[in-house]
Amino acid sequence: MSDQPILRIEAVEKRFGAVRAVDGVSLEIGRGEFFALLGPSGSGKTTLLRIVSGLETPDRGRVEIGGADVTALPPYLRRIGMVFQDFLLFPHRTVAENITFPLKMQGRSQAERQEQLNWILGFVHMEGLGDRFPHQLSGGQKQRVALARGLIARPELLLLDEPLANLDRELRKEMEIEVRRYQEELGIPFVYVTHNQEEALTMSDRMAVMHQGVLEQIGPKLEVYNAPATRFVASFVGAPNKLTGRVIDGDGARLRIDWGGITLTGRGVSGARAHDPVELYLKSERIQLSPTAEGIRHENRFEVTVRDIIFKGQFADYIVRADNEAELVVSGPPSIAGVDRNSRVSLGWALEAADVFTVEDGEP
Ligand code: ATP
Repeated sequence: MSDQPILRIEAVEKRFGAVRAVDGVSLEIGRGEFFALLGPSGSGKTTLLRIVSGLETPDRGRVEIGGADVTALPPYLRRIGMVFQDFLLFPHRTVAENITFPLKMQGRSQAERQEQLNWILGFVHMEGLGDRFPHQLSGGQKQRVALARGLIARPELLLLDEPLANLDRELRKEMEIEVRRYQEELGIPFVYVTHNQEEALTMSDRMAVMHQGVLEQIGPKLEVYNAPATRFVASFVGAPNKLTGRVIDGDGARLRIDWGGITLTGRGVSGARAHDPVELYLKSERIQLSPTAEGIRHENRFEVTVRDIIFKGQFADYIVRADNEAELVVSGPPSIAGVDRNSRVSLGWALEAADVFTVEDGEP
């Protein structure tokens, strides 16, 4: 992130009745960065984005864009572009009219509008389609129009709210790369809201994870993925296996945990005491499988039965059952010699591979 952030959000709060939609959020976004705001439905992402855009006023806190306090400024004075999930194109206007709308609002001349239109149509690969109407476009093309409209005035910041959510999976994958290219080539910072962790991990440089109006973690995406700071982040990012157990003994460096009759070792949690309930979050690609016990060189090692192997092309998911009846998902190569359906195999993981959190008794 460069020295001066393009966007600064400071202690922003927004309530709707009893709901704290945004509950004391602070963050900074650098110039030229692709920033993802990830969270489940209802976590407050859209409300935060609307506060940045000026469509919503915060109850408390401050928003700065390019160093200027814009908290009280209406949306059209903020020099930001916006792209939404449902495209929001004008149905009775052509592609060209839809895209150049922001320039028209700014009172730019016809000649300038045409020049910028030509540039952006080429940039988003929509040459020759300027005279079409939205109903004559595919879903992907509609979203390109919405993106072009968001970018044509070269805003200081582009806000995107689940822009690919209405597209089917294949098209979404293609557009993820496309949107990433727009950001890289134009150097405009993007704030990209999504509930889809794969999308956030694919596209962003840094990301924040939001839950119940609070930012639980913010950092480079690999840091969020590899070192989740909270139990929620550990459970939400990376589709991990969740193992629940109780502390047997240990200290700040290392814990022994009873997982339904199987003893595991995990990273220490400061303050953890014997009998405390714990949860281990274990990403499927961090577990190793082998036909023999000797093939596993980790402290956590036990036998399991392979229940199913789900072939996924370049890899496979192995569904295995431990002797305590718990099932785990292990991602591995598409085939492993000696690891077949219904076979008894060994499994293991490194002590630091699991993210361990203590849980209050009775906490969900
Ligand atoms: P989604 O992905 O489903 O859009 P989100 O993370 O964007 O979810 P928000 O739309 O920001 O979440 O909503 C956060 C909370 O605020 C929710 O509990 C929602 O019901 C509530 N909320 C949002 N807008 C309003 C409103 N205008 N009036 C009342 N409650 C609202």
